[in-house]
Amino acid sequence: MTLHHRPDTAARVAALFASLVPGGVIGSRIAGETVVGTGEAITLVDPVTAKPFASFRDGGESAAAQALEATVPAFAAWGAMPASARGRVIWAIGQGVRAKAGALAELETLASGKPIRDTRVEVAKVAEMFEYYAGWADKLHGDVIPVPTSHLNYVRREPFGAVVQITPWNAPIFTAGWQIAPAIAAGNAVVLKPSELTPFTSLALAVICEEAGVPKGLVNVLAGLGATTGAAAVAHPLTRLVVFVGSRETGARIAATAAKRVVPTLLELGGKSANIVFPDADLDRAVLGAQAAIFSGAGQSCVAGSRLLVHRSIHAEFVERLAKAAPRIPVGDPLDEATQIGPIVHGGQWSKIDGMVQAGIGEGAVVAAGGGRPEGSGEGFFYAPTVLDRVTPTMEIAREEVFGPVVAVTPFDCEEAAVTLANATDYGLAGAVWTRDVGRAHRVAAKVRAGTFWINSYKTINVMSPFGGFGQSGYGRSSGLEALHAYTTTKSVWVETAEAPAVGFGYAG
Ligand code: NAD
Repeated sequence: MTLHHRPDTAARVAALFASLVPGGVIGSRIAGETVVGTGEAITLVDPVTAKPFASFRDGGESAAAQALEATVPAFAAWGAMPASARGRVIWAIGQGVRAKAGALAELETLASGKPIRDTRVEVAKVAEMFEYYAGWADKLHGDVIPVPTSHLNYVRREPFGAVVQITPWNAPIFTAGWQIAPAIAAGNAVVLKPSELTPFTSLALAVICEEAGVPKGLVNVLAGLGATTGAAAVAHPLTRLVVFVGSRETGARIAATAAKRVVPTLLELGGKSANIVFPDADLDRAVLGAQAAIFSGAGQSCVAGSRLLVHRSIHAEFVERLAKAAPRIPVGDPLDEATQIGPIVHGGQWSKIDGMVQAGIGEGAVVAAGGGRPEGSGEGFFYAPTVLDRVTPTMEIAREEVFGPVVAVTPFDCEEAAVTLANATDYGLAGAVWTRDVGRAHRVAAKVRAGTFWINSYKTINVMSPFGGFGQSGYGRSSGLEALHAYTTTKSVWVETAEAPAVGFGYAG
């Protein structure tokens, strides 16, 4: 790979951020104002050059409390608006995202290292999310239940109030939109804490929400660390629902904290998804699909097809084709239009990936491609697309999430063995099967324990369709109508309609 001349990341990020957030100062966005943190200094490092490019201070407990307090009048004001008017504001957020799409995508790419061709698509999808949920704002209603008594019983769908959302660094604005749009369409107020590594585009999204006309304090974004700012928001007494997207370990910790106050949680966690290839598949498409499954986003994707299960009769040929293809995928500067794989978001994650690859080799896996830094990548956190063959189900590399461009290949002998291997994981986020046998495709889709499953495809998701995990990949569903149900709770109202109700108890006086 070659790295061409790059713009000065620090200056470009500062200019883009200032064009999106008034004042251009990095701090929490609370009730339409930037609140600069006073806690620990957080320095961000350019993943392409390993040089610092921005810093800000942790918002901490005071920012979390201020944001949650700001939701109280905003929630009341939002609830007082007609639902169709709320829908129009949410639609306007989508339009605001479209109007600023270029700057948002470039900022996301500079801060996270994700290729510009991907961030452009993700930003466009954020606009679609708000447009989709705008339509739902005045179509979310309760039911009348035909109870057997003389009562009219109706069920209202009500928002929770203040929702705390905690998000990771791998798709920052995408995940923010994915959670904010259904939350506010359902009538809630939001305090979102993005990863401290990638706060910029979520802060910019808060400003777009303000400009579209949400009440001040309806959408707040905290700039800060997880253990301080995030934990304080989760534990705050005004928090009514916690939505967490991130690692299994942090998710479990947050759910335990929330449980102490009996606050419900929705968890979208990691995965170890199986991509299953049968010999009757269109192998050209399956080879491309296997690459997209694990190498796009440099493997930093919760649904990554990190386990490749290939029928033994085609195993050697398939691995050879993947191994030939892997070094040809353009790795490089994420601002370059041709780049398909950018750097890993930070040095710690790079080391974790390499540690797991080395451990896999130690346990007997064979490197068919990659394994380490690509040539010419300088100081940046680039990791070569890596194919590890002869992986057995007990190896760490077959069980634990790598969150990097590393695929673990295991052969199988029959359909039943493929399903057993696919289900030999505590996770259950996604999976795929490649075959021309329509019966087999649907049998396998029914048997694999996963919240999303593809047949002759990989990675497509859409805001219209529910998304979430089985097992340790989490619970609850984001997106689609299911997200609106997840972001609301029901109230059953009983009205006596009888002229002379039978008094069953007590003394009328
Ligand atoms: P992480 O769990 O380390 O951090 C996620 C967020 O939690 C960050 O904002 C962090 O600051 C915050 N946090 C950390 N400790 C906290 C605490 N004690 N209290 C409150 N907040 C805290 O995850 P990550 O490394 O940023 O992201 C990678 C992980 O996210 C992977 O496991 C990946 O699979 C998962 N992920 C899941 C989905 C999904 O939809 N299922 C999507 C994207 C990423």
